[in-house]
Amino acid sequence: MAVPVTTAAEERADEIIRAERVRKSYGRTEVLRGIDLAVSAGEVVCVIGPSGSGKSTFLRCVNHLERLDGGRLYVNGELIGYRQRRGKIYEQSPRDVCRKRADIGMVFQHFELFPHMTVLQNLVLAPLIVRRRAKAEATARAEELLDKVGLADKIDSYPGQLSGGQQQRVAIARALCMRPRLMLFDEPTSALDPELVGEVLNVMRELASSGLTMVVVTHEMQFAREVADRVVFMDHGKVVEESAPHEFFAAPKTERAKAFLERLA
Ligand code: ADP
Ligand code: MG
Repeated sequence: MAVPVTTAAEERADEIIRAERVRKSYGRTEVLRGIDLAVSAGEVVCVIGPSGSGKSTFLRCVNHLERLDGGRLYVNGELIGYRQRRGKIYEQSPRDVCRKRADIGMVFQHFELFPHMTVLQNLVLAPLIVRRRAKAEATARAEELLDKVGLADKIDSYPGQLSGGQQQRVAIARALCMRPRLMLFDEPTSALDPELVGEVLNVMRELASSGLTMVVVTHEMQFAREVADRVVFMDHGKVVEESAPHEFFAAPKTERAKAFLERLA
C-alpha cells in the first residue's frame, strides 16, 4: 500500500475519529467499501445496520485489530498504520500500536474477561502493565469504577460467578480503568438475556452523559434514539445515512434505512 500523504486532520484536536474512504477486504470479499465518517470529542454515535454490513470490521479497524486496504483513518489525531516523525511517515511499530490502543477502550458482545482472574485483577492488569501505574493507584481507580457500575461487592469474584450483565459491566469498568479518550462498543447487550440488558444500557447512558466520546454498534433502537447525538446507518460496507436520531427514526432519508427499520418494527 502506498504511503498516504498527510492532511490537516492531525491538527484538528476535537476530532477523535476521521475515516476517509476506508477500505477493507477479506480475500475477494470487500467488507468496507469506502467508509467516510468523522466523530468529534464528546460525541455519542450509534452505528446501526444489517448483519454483515461491516460495523464490527470498522470498529476493529479503529482499534488497530485490522490492517486497512485503502483510505486513511485517524484516531485521536494519529494516522492508523503509520507513525509520523519530523514530517516523515513510517509504518507504525508494535510499540506505537500499543501506545495508541491504550487510549481506546473496547467492549465486545461476549465480554472477553480473563476467566482465571478476579474482577480486580481484570481491572488492574492493563493499568499496571501498559500504563505502569503503581498498584495502590490502579486498585483505587478500579474500586472507584466498580462502584460506579454498581459492582463494588464483586471485586474478588471470578467472571464465571457473575451474570452476563454483571460481566459486561465489569468489562466496561475495565476499559475505563485506562482512562480512554474513546470508547467503542460492539453490540454490548446482544448476548444478554433480555432482563439484563437494562443494567448495561444504564451504565452506558451515564457514561454518555459524562462527556466521553463513544461509538456504539447496537440493535437497541430505543437507546440510540435517546442517547445518540448522531445515528450512522451502514449497509454493504458504506455509511449510507447519518442524521440526528429524531430525524433518522421519524423520517429515514434512504430506502435502505426505511426497509431496515420496517423489518425491526
Ligand atoms: P457486522 O458487524 O455489520 O455484522 P462484520 O464487520 O462482522 O459485519 O462483517 C462484514 C462481512 O465481513 C461479513 O460478510 C463477514 O462474513 C465478513 N468477515 C468478517 N470478518 C471476517 C474474517 N475475519 N474473515 C473473512 N470474512 C470476514
Ligand atoms: Mg458485528
